[in-house]
Amino acid sequence: MLNSTLTELSAALAGRQLSSVELTSAFLNRIKELNPRLNAFITVDEGHSLAEAKASDARRAQAAAGPLEGIPIAHKDIFCTRGLRTTCGSRMLAQFDSPYDAHVIERFAAAGAVMLGKTNMDEFAMGSSNETSWFGPVRNPWDTGLVPGGSSGGSAAAVAARLAPAATGTDTGGSIRQPAALTGTCGLKPTYGVVSRYGMIAFASSLDQGGPLAKSAADLALLMNAMAGFDARDSTSLERPAEDYGRELNLELKGLRIGLPKEYFGDGLQPEVRARVEEAVRWFQGHGAKTVEIALPNTGLAVPVYYVIAPAEASSNLSRFDGVRYGHRAKDYSDLADLYRRTRAEGFGAEVKRRILIGTYVLSHGYYDAYYLQAQKIRRLIARDFAEAFRQCDLVMGPTSPTTAFALGAKADDPVQMYLNDIFTIPAPLAGLPGLSIPCGFDAAGLPVGLQIMGNYFAEAKMLGAAHRYQQATDWHLRVPAGTPL
Ligand code: GLN
Repeated sequence: MLNSTLTELSAALAGRQLSSVELTSAFLNRIKELNPRLNAFITVDEGHSLAEAKASDARRAQAAAGPLEGIPIAHKDIFCTRGLRTTCGSRMLAQFDSPYDAHVIERFAAAGAVMLGKTNMDEFAMGSSNETSWFGPVRNPWDTGLVPGGSSGGSAAAVAARLAPAATGTDTGGSIRQPAALTGTCGLKPTYGVVSRYGMIAFASSLDQGGPLAKSAADLALLMNAMAGFDARDSTSLERPAEDYGRELNLELKGLRIGLPKEYFGDGLQPEVRARVEEAVRWFQGHGAKTVEIALPNTGLAVPVYYVIAPAEASSNLSRFDGVRYGHRAKDYSDLADLYRRTRAEGFGAEVKRRILIGTYVLSHGYYDAYYLQAQKIRRLIARDFAEAFRQCDLVMGPTSPTTAFALGAKADDPVQMYLNDIFTIPAPLAGLPGLSIPCGFDAAGLPVGLQIMGNYFAEAKMLGAAHRYQQATDWHLRVPAGTPL
């Protein structure tokens, strides 16, 4: 049961072989057993989850049920949830009880899903290793001496170790895809505007996008059907007709044009990552897809551009945490300015402070033109590279992350090395494009490798179709870490 896909669990619930209470209890027990080792969850409330499961079973007895009815889902602790604290991985919000639910949470509740708990994350989603969390690092289930990736590392580790059948995450510069790659799970960052940001604590608003993590592409489609949709409370939410994200799961691969960006296969790529990704691409070629070499010439500028724009927006978004309106408040202060200063000094960790300083600097009078404006111009060029590429191909494939999982602490004192880990995931959000990561094999140390598939705006169904076809022929996505046997 713990290794079943959502489709299988959904069928078992519908066939009454299983109740939501039984299913939810099984995952709660597994969390109890393994979370002390993995630290994937910040908050679990058994009573809350079981009450929701019981209510779901009662609903099912009354009426026909949708595919997610009774399915337990873990939520990244960046989504506001009424009744379960929302910390965003920060001391600043360690005791924060949201008075309302995020749109994504409302959508899952409306679909009948059960909230399994809130997953650990880098503080305010800033990080690539889950080491910046106030609640301690998450450990990679494939090797607990390694990082799971970040910032949605708790969600990814929870799915990888089968502590949850699926989870939500958010991706600003790779935080869904990179941890999915490092833990051997599947993750999708949708087109910007497809999933509402209402109630999703803001990091960099022009980049932030919620999305699902799960065991398979077909499961991602089911989750997207619940998560996506217009929401008037997010001014960048897109008003489009509802779509079935599973409608292209039987995608015809014959004639599919796959673009391979030469910039994604250059120096700095771990040889085994390159080999596994090339093998996956050859599988697609063997099934009739055509590959074309494409150029994304501004790829090398994506990381520096991102580290101007994301901190700029973060410095503005995080100004609301002042000890007056939300969260932590310093105890001893002499006046209002001192209250702000002490509260923010105590409430934020080092990485968050670094981003606020960089962001404030690049937005300041005298530097705005040189940094922020310049970054915005290059952001436009990066988007234009993709527009040009999608004239020649239907999907773009490459590695998700240049390396497999690295050791805890290995890059913690070297922010630039840490930032470079996101070189292949940062371009898509800068352009507002969708991207996903699926497992495509292992390196010599037995660590998972991720294949990234990017598409044009609103090409999620096609990307999921390509991923699903591959997963029908391979079983990388069903492998379970040896250290967390079922
Ligand atoms: N690792 C990147 C950063 O630290 C991306 C994080 C994210 O996507 N939330 O900003």
